[in-house]
Amino acid sequence: MRYEAPASLEQAVALLAAERGEARVLAGGTDLLVQMKTDLIEPELVVDIKGIAELREIKEEAGGFRIGAAVTGAELKEHPRLGTVWPGIVEAANLIGSTQIQGRATMGGNLCNGSPAADSVPALIAAGAKASIAGPRGAPIVGSKGRREVPVEDVMLAPRKLSLAKGEIVASFLLPPKPARTGDAYLRFIPRTEMDIAVVGCGICLTLDAKGTCTGARVSLGAVAPRPLLVAEAAAALIGTPVDDAALKRLDAAARAACKPIDDKRGTKDYRIKVAGVLARRAAQIALDRARKG
Ligand SMILES: Cc1cc2nc3c(=O)[nH]c(=O)nc-3n(C[C@H](O)[C@H](O)[C@H](O)COP(=O)(O)OP(=O)(O)OC[C@H]3O[C@@H](n4cnc5c(N)ncnc54)[C@H](O)[C@@H]3O)c2cc1C
Repeated sequence: MRYEAPASLEQAVALLAAERGEARVLAGGTDLLVQMKTDLIEPELVVDIKGIAELREIKEEAGGFRIGAAVTGAELKEHPRLGTVWPGIVEAANLIGSTQIQGRATMGGNLCNGSPAADSVPALIAAGAKASIAGPRGAPIVGSKGRREVPVEDVMLAPRKLSLAKGEIVASFLLPPKPARTGDAYLRFIPRTEMDIAVVGCGICLTLDAKGTCTGARVSLGAVAPRPLLVAEAAAALIGTPVDDAALKRLDAAARAACKPIDDKRGTKDYRIKVAGVLARRAAQIALDRARKG
């Protein structure tokens, strides 16, 4: 196995694109190294992206934030403004594993590991985040600097399957400007108090008008389908309402209806479906309180 640690994104893309055998990006390694040690994968080439400065930055950009794909959960938490503007995203990233894991685990790795239960992904989807993807010549590139911007919900297709072409790397996540009276929240349920994988995860972002009516919402569910879901029907249950009990009941029903979960040791299908409705209601209540506080 060859290990490379390029200093630029262009070099990293070129290395991945040129490799004929299996090539993998290495970010925090909290998924990749476990999979290599258990012989689940045996890459010929590992390209470490942690030395690429632009992937390690959090910048305010176009009224929103650009978070480098190799930024860790711990770094998100330390940012002076991000947690005030997008608390749901910072909280989601800081549910991952333990303090030690959060010091290594990156946002890009959480998405690109391709787990339907990845905690930061529903929070990013609810916020309307886009993934900025860098790729080699010939990859489906749109936009400036050889990058394409893809809604986060379109990156993962199925467990361990992504929509990335050979040589492509998720470079960053672009969080849009946050409208006034908008709040986001992420909740997950795990069988233990920590260090477990979500039975269900739910990210919600909602916006109120001056009278307290919900004018926009995005609801995302994790761990209840082969990929994290953006559930338009659940958002529709909130829009045009004061997010009262009746709306929360409709949200609960719409969230449950969207689930196509598996049975496993963490929970049965029926259990997951029920928990999805409950978590959606609770996350909406937190997002609502945050939106009311501005
Ligand atoms: C003890 C333990 C507890 C955990 N708990 C949780 C949890 O509670 N919630 C949760 O969601 N996850 C959990 N995980 C899984 C893991 O920590 C996260 O998924 C983490 O965010 C992965 O990030 P990483 O930087 O370590 O990725 P890596 O392991 O470096 O990479 C993961 C995969 O993504 C690819 N990749 C990484 N970055 C990019 C990129 N920028 N572009 C393209 N491909 C890329 C890699 O090639 C690899 O296939 C846990 C893991 C452990 C070991």
